[in-house]
Amino acid sequence: MPSTITKRSIDMDFIEKVGTISGEAFKTCMQCGTCSTVCPMQESTEVTPRKIIHLAQWGIFSTVMSVNMAWMCASCHTCAVRCPRGIDIPKVVEAIRLLTLRKNKNFVEPFEIVKEQIEEMPQAAMVSTFRKHTA
Ligand code: SF4
Ligand code: SF4
Repeated sequence: MPSTITKRSIDMDFIEKVGTISGEAFKTCMQCGTCSTVCPMQESTEVTPRKIIHLAQWGIFSTVMSVNMAWMCASCHTCAVRCPRGIDIPKVVEAIRLLTLRKNKNFVEPFEIVKEQIEEMPQAAMVSTFRKHTA
């Protein structure tokens, strides 16, 4: 994760697209961290909801793409109902997921799933993971 923010690290196009796709004014986030304290997925994610919003605010797309928040968010909306700025955080995370997929970056690589796993996996789980985690 970059420790310094430079003109070169800010991807304005990414910031604009996240805003357009999500429809959320995520730039109004004041970094209070309330969303992070209530997120049930925080043990599985590499960054907190507060952090992913912060990275999106600064347009650091390369880092946003490299962490697993967009794939692990359960869209439970617990964070959104607590956000004092009324930001629908899962909508922002979903926009990030879509933009990541547009770069052809998969979270699950279908051809890397071993045969034994495919045989044991419920069909519904396989379909939903391909829908959410592959481009
Ligand atoms: S709760 Fe809302 S304002 Fe607070 S850090 Fe999270 S997104 Fe930002
Ligand atoms: S919607 Fe996603 S980021 Fe928000 S609390 Fe639920 S799992 Fe965490």
